[in-house]
Amino acid sequence: MTARVMIKSGREKPIRQRHPWLFSGAIEHIDNEAVDGDIIDVVTTRGEFLASGYLNRRSQIVVRLLTWDQAEAIDESFWARRLTRSIRARPNGPARRLINAESDGLPGLIVDQYGDWLVLQSLTLGIEQQKALISRQLLDMVKPRGIYERSDVDVREKEGLPASSGLLLGEEPPDRIEIEENGHRLWVDVRHGHKTGFYLDQRDNRQKAKAYVRDAGVLNLFCYTGGFTVAALSAGARSVLNVDSSADVLELAKENLRLNAFAVDDAAFVEADVFSYLRKLRADHRIFDVIIADPPKLAQSQAQVDRAARAYKDLNLVSMQLLKPGGYLITFSCSGLVSADLFQKIVFGAAVDAGRDVQIVERLSQASDHPVLLSFPEAEYLKGLVCRVW
Ligand code: SAH
Repeated sequence: MTARVMIKSGREKPIRQRHPWLFSGAIEHIDNEAVDGDIIDVVTTRGEFLASGYLNRRSQIVVRLLTWDQAEAIDESFWARRLTRSIRARPNGPARRLINAESDGLPGLIVDQYGDWLVLQSLTLGIEQQKALISRQLLDMVKPRGIYERSDVDVREKEGLPASSGLLLGEEPPDRIEIEENGHRLWVDVRHGHKTGFYLDQRDNRQKAKAYVRDAGVLNLFCYTGGFTVAALSAGARSVLNVDSSADVLELAKENLRLNAFAVDDAAFVEADVFSYLRKLRADHRIFDVIIADPPKLAQSQAQVDRAARAYKDLNLVSMQLLKPGGYLITFSCSGLVSADLFQKIVFGAAVDAGRDVQIVERLSQASDHPVLLSFPEAEYLKGLVCRVW
């Protein structure tokens, strides 16, 4: 019989509403024989079945729920069904997120496709135990040349897992994989790149940004490998100044321009801390037509939200000061803990201090292959505003 975890009375509601996380504070009792990483049934104090999921006592999220149907066994065919369902729901394309964790009913599992390779991220002990099975199933379904792992992320520590990366199945990927996005060619380095190699979540926004950049002098802050830069140049931007603190990503950004037959001016790639470089641009009286600001996640925890809010405000304030009247600020936050509402208030605060009239002309979010399960609003992390700054 499956081991059981009993939850405290009065704590059933989020589970009945299919929120996939069970926190330690809601737990009354866990059967002694239950093994971390294994499947466990969640029951009420009266023994009534609520859901099944996988257990990890070491984590604050003690159970991640997989099914609310008592008749649905968590066996090999369960994982295959969930993978198939997610993959079938994706539009075809050479670079896409196939599995978006909790929102695809597969908590802790991310799978991205870059051409003929898949990159898998396993974030929890429960997924770690299924990793070999899931990889074989993915190989069968998608028929990639290889599956590469990039589970080198800090959150694994909370699960008691070490970082792990390398080839899981099939052939080693090349140093750089060429993908196509919105009609442009881009290199992705799945071994050393951020996350699984590329920020797929910005694909739709790179396309939308094209509408604002014709003949523009663009400043691309936190440019990474130049996804927004290639999009802007292809849409007729006059010039793009690229800023990032990492020399490696700037090199790949240059390669991405070459791949699309754009001239590379080394002076247009600046290795610097954006927050201080913006002040230099201001001191030099530089003015831009469009500024794109896509910083890394600035709030990693609730305790960091205030500090992150100050950093977002500073970034947006100085950016507004560098824009010509009627210029566009395309500004993002990928901190899940900073809500869209709070982000808009922060940008408003920046506008007040900059003494500029600012209009929202478009609201942006994560690409459609990063769906948000309604019962798990935490999955919505990326928001952006296209602002016209007078
Ligand atoms: N807009 C990019 C993704 C940005 S990811 C795209 O479309 O692909 C965030 C980037 O910010 C990373 O490349 C990281 O190297 C860079 N970064 C982080 N902190 C920084 C800082 N203080 N100054 C400059 N760049 C920074």
